Amino acid sequence: MDCNAHGRFRYKYFKKECMAKFHKIEGDKESLYIFHCPGCGYGHHVRFKGEEPVWNVTGVEEDKPTVTPSLLVWQSRPEARCHSFIREGRIEFLSDCFRELKGKTVELPDFDKQ
Ligand SMILES: [Zn+2]
Repeated sequence: MDCNAHGRFRYKYFKKECMAKFHKIEGDKESLYIFHCPGCGYGHHVRFKGEEPVWNVTGVEEDKPTVTPSLLVWQSRPEARCHSFIREGRIEFLSDCFRELKGKTVELPDFDKQ
């Protein structure tokens, strides 16, 4: 699988592992997953090793990732806020999101197809 994570996130010295929905990026000090957010149209990252905050992530090998607790992106900008739960490969947008997907649950897209 071709991995386009490198160009977007510039983690060029990190080891990458590309799965369909979540891509793993591992470094000495921190490790994270990136995924494509269908609400924002951008990639978001979920740190699972390193400085706080870190998230608990399971199910990546089965391509049904679950992330706890919820993810909140751009908290200080209500016009761009993205707040979601990811459970078993689906993303649930909470009611304080800014876009039309708020309150909806959709399948996470494959990262490389975006
Ligand atoms: Zn988003």
